[in-house]
Amino acid sequence: MLRTKIVILLLLATSALRAQPAADGSDALHRWQAGVAVSAEAIARVGMDSCFRAEPVGDAVFARMLGKSYPKDCPVARCDLRYVRVLHYDWQGRVLTGELVCHRQIADDVVQVFRQLYRQKYPIGSVRLIDDFDADDERSMRANNTSCFCYRSVNGSQKLSKHARGLAVDINPLYNPCRRRTKNGRWRVEPATAVPYCDRTKTFRGKIDRQDLCYRLFTARGFTWGGNWRTLKDWQHFEK
Ligand SMILES: [Zn+2]
Repeated sequence: MLRTKIVILLLLATSALRAQPAADGSDALHRWQAGVAVSAEAIARVGMDSCFRAEPVGDAVFARMLGKSYPKDCPVARCDLRYVRVLHYDWQGRVLTGELVCHRQIADDVVQVFRQLYRQKYPIGSVRLIDDFDADDERSMRANNTSCFCYRSVNGSQKLSKHARGLAVDINPLYNPCRRRTKNGRWRVEPATAVPYCDRTKTFRGKIDRQDLCYRLFTARGFTWGGNWRTLKDWQHFEK
């Protein structure tokens, strides 16, 4: 009886140990769970190439997307999309795991740009799939979340966005909002909480302008910046 009790206690203790995530983030690196702080030692163990890579969209990722960023009748072939792993610095200087889904045509660009941003310690708040925000662009932007693929039309119109094919990336969208004039002549800002960041004459951390590293890296690879558009300003947006 006593032996049985000891065995049960040991089993409970080992399962509790297993449930405890490693403090250095190595579990998140192995399973590639996004948004987790990871140590330099844990990164060195898995290797940098494993932290910056594009791969086919696996079943687990696809299950997260289905019915959200990837509607049931989505005309974009799953095999044309790539799941991209990245590391990035956040506003506190921690290194976090990140993830994006993009079109295979820009997958290499995305990997290389994020690798350069990481090397130069460029701060990005969060890089998680928009599906974690129920594919609600406003919610993702308010959370300052960087993202790419989402099958949707341009907000306020019928036209398909470049995000619908995974050919556009939005970086730090709270600090780099999208501003357009509505039919009644008013400004519409997305996300709505980003009004303080619409004054682009101000200097603030994370602001994308033509001197910014994101701007230089993306445009060097042939991307267009939404901040250069005339009628609509989309400071977060790079598309190819
Ligand atoms: Zn965009």
